[in-house]
Amino acid sequence: MTAEITPLIAGNWKMNGTTAALGEVQKLAGLLAAGGGPRCTVVICPPATLLERLNELAAPAGIVSGGQDCHTATSGAHTGDISAQMLADAGAQYVIVGHSERRTNHGETDALVQQKAVAAHAAGLVPIICVGETEAERDAGNAVSIVIGQLERSVPDDWSGHEVVIAYEPVWAIGTGRTPTAADIVEMHDAIRGQLEGRFGARGSSTRILYGGSMKPSNASEILRIGNVNGGLVGGASLLANDFHAIISAV
Ligand code: PEP
Repeated sequence: MTAEITPLIAGNWKMNGTTAALGEVQKLAGLLAAGGGPRCTVVICPPATLLERLNELAAPAGIVSGGQDCHTATSGAHTGDISAQMLADAGAQYVIVGHSERRTNHGETDALVQQKAVAAHAAGLVPIICVGETEAERDAGNAVSIVIGQLERSVPDDWSGHEVVIAYEPVWAIGTGRTPTAADIVEMHDAIRGQLEGRFGARGSSTRILYGGSMKPSNASEILRIGNVNGGLVGGASLLANDFHAIISAV
């Protein structure tokens, strides 16, 4: 992990969680408080229906919240969508954009993801911009070039005065229990860091680069120890307080 960067662990609940799930947030808050509070930034991205109630439980424990997606517009005739302003109004501080499930299920392109990141900044949110290769792309030896291309097109050219977080999530590792080798994570995160520094200079050096894809208590410390891994984006293991707390504690 890069010493001067405050790590970030973000939980992506996806389309999981009703009122009962708030009990896990309460439990996580208790576990964190018992340990003297989190030593990294902790973000939970629940379904939008839970944002406000989650914030009430999470904020006293030093946990902040995020959305899982946002529209590019602030308001309008976009049935079923949610704007970055609405997420901010509900107390969110972050928003995931370009998750591979959005890219696959909703045909989201890099250009759209970039517009969503711009919309997030306009609302005062920090976008967590996801990139990652498919298994076929990795098998073909193209993983790094695919991810660097996504990065070039998905990250806005101008985000001065704002922050971005990058999440490298190999598509084939999400929800499968499979993870890349440490050497593959090193190669990818170093390449991402190089691209960000080449394009954005010092801001690229301090940008948090998360790893995501089947991170769990048993592999978190090995992954989080890798240079240029500045935290994790956690799906399944973020739904249970004990597992998510173990990952946070591995930082
Ligand atoms: C994700 O969907 O962002 C993710 C990392 O999921 P999981 O941890 O379940 O693989």
